[in-house]
Amino acid sequence: MRPPPASDQADPFARFRAEFHLPPGKIYLDGNSLGPLSRRAESALQRVLGEWRTLGINGWTDAAPPWVTLSEHIAAQLAPLVGAAPGDIAVTGSTTGNLHQLLATLFDLAGPRKVILGDELNFPSDAHALASHLRQRGLDPARHLREVRSRDGRTLHEDDIVAAFTPDVQLAVLPAVLYVSGQLLDITWLTREAHARGILIGWDCSHSIGAVPHALAASGADFAFWCSYKYLNAGPGAVGGLYLHRRHHARAPGLAGWWGVRAARRFAMSHTHEPAADAAALHVGTPHVLSLAPLQGSLELFAEAGGVEPLRAKSLTLTRALIELADTELAGFGFRVVTPREDARRGGHVALAHPQAWQFCSALKAAGVVPDFRPPDIIRLAPAPLYNTFADCAEAVARLAQIARTKAHEQFPAQPAAVT
Ligand SMILES: *Cc1c(COP(=O)(O)O)cnc(C)c1O
Repeated sequence: MRPPPASDQADPFARFRAEFHLPPGKIYLDGNSLGPLSRRAESALQRVLGEWRTLGINGWTDAAPPWVTLSEHIAAQLAPLVGAAPGDIAVTGSTTGNLHQLLATLFDLAGPRKVILGDELNFPSDAHALASHLRQRGLDPARHLREVRSRDGRTLHEDDIVAAFTPDVQLAVLPAVLYVSGQLLDITWLTREAHARGILIGWDCSHSIGAVPHALAASGADFAFWCSYKYLNAGPGAVGGLYLHRRHHARAPGLAGWWGVRAARRFAMSHTHEPAADAAALHVGTPHVLSLAPLQGSLELFAEAGGVEPLRAKSLTLTRALIELADTELAGFGFRVVTPREDARRGGHVALAHPQAWQFCSALKAAGVVPDFRPPDIIRLAPAPLYNTFADCAEAVARLAQIARTKAHEQFPAQPAAVT
């Protein structure tokens, strides 16, 4: 093993690594797909299980914090990560469910504009949600869903996005960070350009929350939504979240349920829906308390780290190191970095393209590194600043180079079963 670069010596987050259960003997670089379990998340979940065991139904009121306001408690913890007030956020649902809720709340069938704008590189679930929402409203996605095209199949030109902000577009949904290439879009600028053309705009922050600082309120964005199981490390299927700008708080929720009623009226059991005065109106049903608890524990670590800004500084140096190492050690073997090189255009992971990516991914796993593969030809490496080091990055690239040198990847099948 080569000595770690000097930068690990001065790592301000070195102590956080011990807060995580990292798979023994492995270099975990897949935190943008599923963040690892932390001791805090584990103990928060154990606490809630204990409350359930000893309090039963009284946990709703007597747990600490009471389960009835656990979502609001977490919204306050999460607010600084997205640059919003706690009342602008609802910690609820899943990424896709929250997108459906936001479309149901914001998309207005009465107006002359009937097109929803997405992009062809976004996560498939977002595209499914946009198309099915249009069908639900009686509109044909073939005519009313438009996708910004990519010139290179990896990234989006922001000028192409603005060019697609045409007068028939009512609402645009874009990823803050593209899940394959790791490109970070300019939320503030694109939001301004959308608004200048009378278009509502929302952001899928699944691949950015916890890795890239957000200033959603200051950007003026209309809405955003995200999951909590990637950089937020809240566990598989953890409760996600949504942001709704204050200017929309008076709108009736598109998908109404009893949990979106004003807190004081929740147990009045009235059939008249009296929505909460803020983003909490977009809650639907009873919160998934067992899937909220780990998020509460996990977010303590972000607070102790001083928020996302300092973590972003380390993340950028880690991804920069990965890119430089890939250039020097892997380019000769046919690997190409497809993640933008400018700091301002890069999220938290690095994507390497190679025609035999699947085989390299398999070989890398066998060699003790946990990356992931995205079809057709991408290996993603996500060094998370809370628990990864420069040594992790250097070692992962060294093992990949060793695999290439010895052709060890050729022992593995050429195609993943799921995409054949
Ligand atoms: C991970 C991810 C999702 C996942 O959606 P779920 O509803 O949580 O399964 C959606 N969109 C993007 C951009 C993602 O990165």
